[in-house]
Amino acid sequence: MNKHTRRCCVLNCRNSNYKILSKTKTKLFKFPRNVNRCRDWVCAIGDPSVASCTWETLITHGYVCKDHFEEKYVTAIQGITVNAVPTIFPYLRTPLSEPQLLLFDESVPVQKKRWKTDAMV
Ligand SMILES: [Zn+2]
Repeated sequence: MNKHTRRCCVLNCRNSNYKILSKTKTKLFKFPRNVNRCRDWVCAIGDPSVASCTWETLITHGYVCKDHFEEKYVTAIQGITVNAVPTIFPYLRTPLSEPQLLLFDESVPVQKKRWKTDAMV
């Protein structure tokens, strides 16, 4: 992947920060570093090929463009709110199965796996 070209990872979306690939420059947002929120995005996107990326890869190279966020999540200052989750997609989503999420889950460093402890509270 060319590090200077950032592309939206959503299937069928060609938006990028590179003008030739997409006619209009769209703002791209990085995946949240927080593992719970990052996992929420992976689930929301519902694409097995995204789920098969490691947490490390997603937070380093993964981007989702502004087109997939509802207006309520978009702010003038930071771009998107801290609880923003992409919800608008150009395809019909089917929920990811546990095995499809396993690759992502297994890539998360043990000390960051907070959703497991959250569930116990
Ligand atoms: Zn996009």
